[in-house]
Amino acid sequence: MVVGKRGANSAKRSRQLQLLNAVPPYRPAALPILDERLRGTKFVALEPKSVLNSPQQTGVDFWSLNPYIGCEFGCTYCYARYAHRYTVERAHDGGRLSDAEFHEFRGPHGWEAFEKRVFVKERLLGVLEGDLRRYFRSVGPTDRPSAPIVIGTATDPYQPAERRFRLTRGILERLARCEGLNIGIITKSPLIARDTDVLQRLQERSDLEVHISLNTVDVSLIRQVEARSPMPAVRLRALKRLAGAGVRVGLIVAPVLPGITDDVPHLEALFQAAREAGARFVHAGPLRLYPAVRDRFLPMVEACFPHLAARYRRAYEGRSGVPRDYARALSARIKKLQARFGFPVNEGMVDRYGRRLAPAQQELGL
Ligand code: SF4
Repeated sequence: MVVGKRGANSAKRSRQLQLLNAVPPYRPAALPILDERLRGTKFVALEPKSVLNSPQQTGVDFWSLNPYIGCEFGCTYCYARYAHRYTVERAHDGGRLSDAEFHEFRGPHGWEAFEKRVFVKERLLGVLEGDLRRYFRSVGPTDRPSAPIVIGTATDPYQPAERRFRLTRGILERLARCEGLNIGIITKSPLIARDTDVLQRLQERSDLEVHISLNTVDVSLIRQVEARSPMPAVRLRALKRLAGAGVRVGLIVAPVLPGITDDVPHLEALFQAAREAGARFVHAGPLRLYPAVRDRFLPMVEACFPHLAARYRRAYEGRSGVPRDYARALSARIKKLQARFGFPVNEGMVDRYGRRLAPAQQELGL
């Protein structure tokens, strides 16, 4: 059958109309809520394209991996609020969060929702396969010890969400099948002890170091500076359990808070506790106050340590690091304590994972 030009055009228009009617207006998929707590925390699914960040992507000397964005522990000094805000803004720009959701996910200052809207990286193991191929392509077998993969550089990989979603365990299971890697894990949570079996397997084929993060053994102080983190005793118990199982584990005292946790008796108590728990090392480093941290941290100082507020503002005025003299004095104090308590002196994250360490949380394992 021969169809005239007019007939062909009208058939084309009608096909176009049919298509338009069949396909709903385009709207990128919203972010599904996977779970919710009574106190309002929501766990939000996020499908990343990649989970293993190369040094070129982050500007630090190691590869990094963070299964979650956001953290219920809510430390007042946490730098990673930045990453959360960035994720929320990108989701909004990409049409996956409505304006109302955007305000809810962001909070008035851009950091509040970090503790209450936790992004869970879904299908992470599939993505990790591609990332590992990229890692192995760029890092030969003999270079792997000097190309560490650090888990938990921005958010805690064993935060409460891990109890349900088990992303970190899945990652470790996968890495345990590799040979000759150099893996670091940083956490404040005793939940890591759940995975002792995987850590032992991982250690059979790769170099592993677990950093339990704790900056005071003072229970009341912890609650002033960290909203919902695990208590010192349970972190130390986890450290002891891992050490007893032969896992190479130590304490990371970070950040040391000037005028609050930097006195000798305070640090001595931590070193003593680390010794008793069987830690292999103790690292420490001072607080860095990045712009995103100030809004959260300085009001806490004003409320709980009003006598220090002016000192903090002066010390961190126009910079995020502590004054050089302070850094030197703290470093000397830590070295003395390392020697006194029989720990390797000056063997720290920086020595192990490289020098170009950017933000405090990456540098100091928060
Ligand atoms: S410092 Fe670590 S544990 Fe604390 S809120 Fe940030 S990511 Fe969580």
